[in-house]
Amino acid sequence: MKKSCFVAGAVASFLLTMVPHLGTAQEDAPRQVLFTNVNIFNGVDGELMENGSVLVEGNLIKTVSADAIDAPDAYMVDGEGRTLMPGLIDMHSHLCFRNGMLEFRDNYDQMAAGAYTAIAMQDYLDQGFTTARDAGCNILGVAKAVNNGIIPGPRVFPSGAFLSQTGGHADTGSFNDVPGDVDDLEAHMVGFIADGVPEVTKATRHNLRAGATQIKVMAGGGVASEFDPLHMTQYSLDEMKAIVGVAEDYGTYVHVHAYHDRSVNRAIDAGARVIEHNFLVSEDTIIRMKEEGVALSVQAVMSLEAFGNPESITFFSADQKAKATKVNKGAQQMMEWAVKHDLLMVTGGDMFGPDLVRQADNIIWFNDKVAKNPHLSLKTATSNAAQVLGFSGEMNPYKEGTLGTITEGGYADIILINGNPLEDIHALKRDKIDFVMKDGLVHKNWLPDENAPAFRPAGPSRDAYFGNL
Ligand SMILES: [Zn+2]
Repeated sequence: MKKSCFVAGAVASFLLTMVPHLGTAQEDAPRQVLFTNVNIFNGVDGELMENGSVLVEGNLIKTVSADAIDAPDAYMVDGEGRTLMPGLIDMHSHLCFRNGMLEFRDNYDQMAAGAYTAIAMQDYLDQGFTTARDAGCNILGVAKAVNNGIIPGPRVFPSGAFLSQTGGHADTGSFNDVPGDVDDLEAHMVGFIADGVPEVTKATRHNLRAGATQIKVMAGGGVASEFDPLHMTQYSLDEMKAIVGVAEDYGTYVHVHAYHDRSVNRAIDAGARVIEHNFLVSEDTIIRMKEEGVALSVQAVMSLEAFGNPESITFFSADQKAKATKVNKGAQQMMEWAVKHDLLMVTGGDMFGPDLVRQADNIIWFNDKVAKNPHLSLKTATSNAAQVLGFSGEMNPYKEGTLGTITEGGYADIILINGNPLEDIHALKRDKIDFVMKDGLVHKNWLPDENAPAFRPAGPSRDAYFGNL
């Protein structure tokens, strides 16, 4: 690898290292990075391109080839036979929660949430996740700061504050609340408790006004929440249609938290395009989703691992443990139907606490317990994910290139893996992710290269560093 000459002061400055190489003379040309000796999973095909090369120019992929690429001025990265693939995409994050909504409500504030978010985003990059669709919290300002290059992090498709009815899945108020009371999470714009068409219209517009790329709605009961039994359907058809109507007026879409047939079908009736969880639906609903092009966002660790052993979740009541067991059984069956009917599937962790450091396990569990098809499982976090992100239409902030594939004209969001995930999905584990590039900038470099930059800024993450090559 050719070493960049850092501009004076850049080594001392965290922020300056975020900007492309600032040099002189020939360096006025866009910076090029040439990956050689890599086996390429392009995010779509089931076969690797063996011993390929990828040329990055600026923040985009310029050339992908099975032959050598002539680029004499490029920084060279010898992949030494590693797998090169698109940066992973997590389709259900809550980047501002460390241990969930209630910890935030009871013990912390927006400042702490911002600090958590910074740590979580850096950790996502270390794990090879270069894009996150955030399924609810007040992350709109953070997303803007990432896009402006001020804070390091994955690309964020934020839903903003999730919408919940009174007594819905995001109503974290107290038992003694009276109508109109605002709970702490709503005060921090983590969620909006909105009832009736005028209120949901206003809440949806408020999110989109501040940069939400899609809208998240709580459409049915959940396992861990206090006031909403699992069987419950949330939001009337009129309310749901109003939310979808506003989203469509902005050129984007609605995704919903829903578990069972009644809530999922009502959301689809209203025009929702992505269902989160979906764990208790019938095969008929899966068939309807296929026919109407409704996508499924899967959380395999939560439903198959955690809920498969609810006794291990110490803070669950007996009632919550019973709900978890029911969900576990339904989830396994539902995912098998979804594979059988070839639904458009994406994976999103919805994970908190210690699980934040193992986002890829959501893909791995989906593969090992359900799909048993690494190619399909990898697509849920690459090209399939990008297809669903495209539902954001004009609200997609990343229109310069494509995401989720290694393709000419795509964004240079690239990871190098020590292993072949098409053969062994466990190669997605964080310790196998040797190199992470997002938007043409290097966020992690574990390659054995004597010229690798020694610069390592102080930071909360154990293995990240930032800078030019
Ligand atoms: Zn969630």
